[in-house]
This record gives sequence, C-alpha cells and structure tokens, in this order.
Amino acid sequence: MIQAVFLDIDGVLTDGSVYVDSSGNETKRILFDDIDAVFEMKRAGLKIGFITGEDNSFCEFIKKRFTPDFFVAGCKDKLGALKKILEETGLEKSQVCYAGDSKRDVQLLEFLPLSFAPSDVDNSIKASAKISLKTQRGHGVIKEIAMHILKK
Ligand SMILES: [Mg+2]
Repeated sequence: MIQAVFLDIDGVLTDGSVYVDSSGNETKRILFDDIDAVFEMKRAGLKIGFITGEDNSFCEFIKKRFTPDFFVAGCKDKLGALKKILEETGLEKSQVCYAGDSKRDVQLLEFLPLSFAPSDVDNSIKASAKISLKTQRGHGVIKEIAMHILKK
C-alpha cells in the first residue's frame, strides 16, 4: 500500500512553463484542483514529498504552501535522493510512488514499481513510467494521481 507520494514540481504541479512579464518577472501557474488533491492525500494520511532540480523562490513558496513531509530542491540525482529518504524512513520502494516529466526523472520513474508521467511528454519518458496519465502537464496531474491512489 502506498504511504508516500513524491512529485516533481515543474511539469507535474505546474505546466512546465515560466510566464514572464515585460519587466522580466517570472511566475508559474498551479491548478486549484491539484492544490486540493495534495491536501486530500494529506488528509488521507499519505505523506507528500517534492523532489525538484530547481532551487528558487517558487520552490520556497511550494514548501510553505504545502508543508510537505519531504522536500528536496536543487536535486541533481533524484534516484539517489529518494533512495536516501527510503533509508532514513525505513519505507520500502513498494510503499512510495513518483511522478515526473523529463529525462532527469527517468531513473527514478524506472526504479519504482508505481510511477506516473503526464500525457504530453516524450515517449521515452512515458515508457519509463509505469502509468501514463490521461492528463497533460499542469492540468490536473496530481488530481489524477490522487484518484488513482485513493481509488475513487
Ligand atoms: Mg519536471
């Protein structure tokens, strides 16, 4: 049974875009459905973790907004980071899942018995994930994952 859900941020929680205004200010978008899904999984007793290659103020916002159980930013080796968390917590790989959208996620997607990729990513990424979702990046990916895990 899944006890912890690990998520990439860019291209999973967000649509993988950076929105830039004429002053050069960068912003990203998150769907309320996905925010709700994170908290629904938390209420169901699941632990939530984010593992991202980015390390910026948006990451800090995510950390504050969701107060996840695990948060790894600026991560260059996502598989290594997850293995370390498994060691520290005693969780088995069969008790966790991960969703990612890019080449940097492939090793981790392949390693876990349950892993997800959004519908609009390269075929090589989809092939490394155990489940290809119906949802595109940033358009309810986490909602679909929550439905899958909470079996609704
Ligand atoms: Mg990504």
